[in-house]
Amino acid sequence: MIQNVTILGATGTIGLQTLDVMSQHPERFRAFALTANANVQKLFELCEAYSPQYAVMLQEAAAAQLEVKLKAIGSATKVLQGIEALNEVAAHKQVHVVMAAIVGAAGLHPAMAAAKAGKRILLANKETLVMAGNLFMQAVAEGGATLLPIDSEHNAIFQVMPQQRAEHLSDMGVKRVLLTASGGPFKNSRMEELHSVTKAQALNHPNWVMGPKITIDSATMMNKGLEVIEAHWLFNAAPEQIDVVVHPQSIIHSMVEYIDGSVLAQLGNPDMRTPIAYGLGYPDRLQSGVSSLDLLKIGHLDFFSPDQARFPCLRLAYDALKVGGTAPAILNAVNEVAVEAFLAEKIGFMEIAATIESVLNSASIEQVVSVEQLVATDAEARRMAAHCLS
Ligand code: NDP
Ligand code: MG
Repeated sequence: MIQNVTILGATGTIGLQTLDVMSQHPERFRAFALTANANVQKLFELCEAYSPQYAVMLQEAAAAQLEVKLKAIGSATKVLQGIEALNEVAAHKQVHVVMAAIVGAAGLHPAMAAAKAGKRILLANKETLVMAGNLFMQAVAEGGATLLPIDSEHNAIFQVMPQQRAEHLSDMGVKRVLLTASGGPFKNSRMEELHSVTKAQALNHPNWVMGPKITIDSATMMNKGLEVIEAHWLFNAAPEQIDVVVHPQSIIHSMVEYIDGSVLAQLGNPDMRTPIAYGLGYPDRLQSGVSSLDLLKIGHLDFFSPDQARFPCLRLAYDALKVGGTAPAILNAVNEVAVEAFLAEKIGFMEIAATIESVLNSASIEQVVSVEQLVATDAEARRMAAHCLS
């Protein structure tokens, strides 16, 4: 049976790579709905190429423009607009698979909608788990959804965990999970240099081509911090069961250590089409277009311990996870505001972590009870961050 796929964030780097893998298997997958925020031209081109049933844009003016352009070419794609429409195409009864690849907290609502509707969810949007891990995992269980992690580290861990899942890691003989980190462009920079690095330097990731937000997160190592929280929810791992090791080649995507001393790893070229193909095909393996790993060319693999003094974001994320409640949602919201300010060249690189720390120190942390509460927490944290930066 052909699978109908909704891609939330179709115009982004993950969205485009998902379409690339799908188009290698036209007999298995069809683009049902493609969504974007405001990039009319890109979504128009995707509609022309893939003829989805629906195209959704968050921005009203953008949706109107897209509609005009599609009409002019006689396209049958229906254009919808707004957050409710994103939720609708994520939960639509004709949809089998939802790729959640919106960037940031904006991805939460449609991912929740897909979970409640019991879809196969390919989760790239790690911010959903950081903000609302317990509520999202609960919605997945209650909705009968299948959750497949797309973040390369979590996809690697998923691949090397026992197929028969138990509730606790110890019941599966797992001692800990090891997340690998590339270290980003500044892994060898001195502390004094980090204060004056530029946006262009921070956007120049050594191994991965990604959207601007996650690229900056990789440079500060907040990306790894968010991934620690993501691993906690996905694998029910306590903070002390999650370790981070810097591995600059990004060939080992992550590892699981068992109590007998075995360490299982998943390796491959750093190309997101591997985890995307895994999520689309699971439990089958699909061609992804990724080239074979040439270990002889790579020659050696290196490992370092992360430097928490130069990369305080990693510590801040571990701390937020340990505090729990709304702390990770606050961390995430302030990070988004600070990264945006850095990308707008309004603040320096090290101010990202300083802003997060300052807001986390003064915000009140509550127990998480509802998505509405988290939305309010997110807004308040953004307000505090903006105040801190003004
Ligand atoms: P991009 O910035 O490349 O793409 C983001 C997508 O989300 C675009 O389609 C964008 O639309 C859309 N979007 C942005 N803001 C909103 C909004 N407010 N409402 C609805 N849609 C919105 O990001 P990436 O593809 O790099 O990352 C997507 C997610 O996947 C992130 O959570 C990231 O952490 C995660 N991830 C990414 C990896 C990667 O290799 N890129 C690896 C692992 C995880 P428009 O084009 O109109 O702006
Ligand atoms: Mg990752």
